[in-house]
Amino acid sequence: MTKKSLPFSADQLEQIAEEFGTPFHIYDQKAIIDNVRALKAAFAWAPGFKEYFAVKATPNPYILKTLAAEGIGADCSSLPELILAERVGLVGEEIVFSSNDTPAQEYIKAKELGAIINLDDISHIDFLDRVAGMPEMICFRYNPGPLRQEGNSIIGKPEDAKYGVAKDQIFDCYLKAQKLGAKRFGLHTMVISNELDPDYFVETARMMFELAVELKRRANIRVEFIDLGGGIGIPYRPEQEAVDLNYLGREIEKVYNKILVPAGLHPLKVAMECGRMITGPYGYLVTRVLHKKEIYKDYIGVDACMADLMRPGMYGAYHHITVSGKENAPCDHMYDVTGSLCENNDKFAIDRKLPGIEIGDLLVIHDTGAHGHAMGFNYNGKLRSKELLLKTDGTVEMIRRAETIEDYFATLDFSRL
Ligand SMILES: *Cc1c(COP(=O)(O)O)cnc(C)c1O
Repeated sequence: MTKKSLPFSADQLEQIAEEFGTPFHIYDQKAIIDNVRALKAAFAWAPGFKEYFAVKATPNPYILKTLAAEGIGADCSSLPELILAERVGLVGEEIVFSSNDTPAQEYIKAKELGAIINLDDISHIDFLDRVAGMPEMICFRYNPGPLRQEGNSIIGKPEDAKYGVAKDQIFDCYLKAQKLGAKRFGLHTMVISNELDPDYFVETARMMFELAVELKRRANIRVEFIDLGGGIGIPYRPEQEAVDLNYLGREIEKVYNKILVPAGLHPLKVAMECGRMITGPYGYLVTRVLHKKEIYKDYIGVDACMADLMRPGMYGAYHHITVSGKENAPCDHMYDVTGSLCENNDKFAIDRKLPGIEIGDLLVIHDTGAHGHAMGFNYNGKLRSKELLLKTDGTVEMIRRAETIEDYFATLDFSRL
């Protein structure tokens, strides 16, 4: 398969582009809702299953609100993300605060909201206690490091990651927090990113369930929930396959029944904080072709740039491109598709086989619903695009306007020149 489907026809897209102007990210609300329902269904067996959407993936309140209506919470890691969650009406333990290298004011806000605070290090216990007071509920982020037994080789190298508490400190963390007044406990990890093999997550679940049993035996700490983090990948390439959520749910259920139930730890809540797989495939960056140039290679210059989507330029990531209206035309031309930054890595595609492209064509860049608009920056005076929502009733609403030159200058005071 070399095609990816779109939730709009070429005519519809042209109308939307004329009404709102390009470039824009557009999110398919219905597909997002169907997707989170499928995730919840796959974990329906798990007592109190909860998904906390990683806000950093798509920090737009209309997206968060859509998810909140489906019972999805928020995973925040900064003060603005906490405030976003608050502004969409999420409260208390609907929010997990999974930060690292955290300033005092962020802990204070998280505590004030009653969010579940997920500490990243043993030294942060006293820091939190001093600046905000130890909450009743506390969670720790676990970093298995090189100690990881089964499945170690497939999990990458946690020992090189800055995150989380090491194995030899994790027991002391809970005992220390308990001494300072914590009464309820959670356990968290996040060791994988953009992974398409479901067995990695099953292995992570096994590791975490075993750790929960060890915590009970060695420290008499009974955790109330285990948060398996995010990191479920999406098929950016048309030939890749999405993670089978039903398989994932079923396999984690087996491990749950094998490890937690005999240890007397049932019921224990299972949580996740996926970002990418929740919204990623259901967002599209739509951009119009401004220029064509033919030098040593053929270039298509579009009106979007890295400011709107960093992943190709930053990681060399593949994002599929559809030339709107030419879905069935043969891909018999080879192009680099570029933005306007004075950086040669500002390319959405390199040596990509596409149908013949004309100035004025609309290109749809796929899978921009997560870590897309959110990662944008203003280098080179580039302004970030608007965001649109294709709503369940088929209408389109602007859910964030494009940046303006006034926004770009908002932090400058020209009056003292
Ligand atoms: C980024 C992040 C996530 C989400 O990761 P995805 O790859 O988008 O699923 C979840 N939890 C934490 C702590 C993160 O930093």
